[in-house]
Amino acid sequence: MTILSSIAMATCSICNSSYDGGALFCPHCGSARQQKTRGLYGGSVLLAIALLMLAVLWRIVALAPSTAERAVVTQPPDQAAMLVSTCGPADSDKITNVSGLPGNEIRSLVFQKAKVRAVFSRADSPSNGWKLQGMFDVKTRTPLTADRLAKRLPCASANPKP
Ligand SMILES: [Zn+2]
Repeated sequence: MTILSSIAMATCSICNSSYDGGALFCPHCGSARQQKTRGLYGGSVLLAIALLMLAVLWRIVALAPSTAERAVVTQPPDQAAMLVSTCGPADSDKITNVSGLPGNEIRSLVFQKAKVRAVFSRADSPSNGWKLQGMFDVKTRTPLTADRLAKRLPCASANPKP
């Protein structure tokens, strides 16, 4: 059977007789013509569209967690903000940039009553949070031991140690 004859003629799936390919019904048994090749083609097109939509959806779903992860990375826990939230606003809050480079900054919070100077740094990127470098005596500028700090600024003990 040539390709041309297969297109021109159709075979009834019910009575298995051949008839004109243009007919919608089998002239022998009257059953509706089964357009097998077209049906398969249509099915594969639908499948391709479904797969494409699935791929698009997958992309959207796959992108969502990665943007969320990025948001978490750019907003690390800010230890300076945490100290202020537990101990209240400092008497002095100064940001100095020794090197002049953006992001390479030192921030010192001074609690005059407790005589504590909390020093933070913000390396890498300005979008990063302040990280505690140490707790110092306001006058001598020497690091305070955990015991001394607990006595002077008990609220600070709730914060992570440097
Ligand atoms: Zn038939």
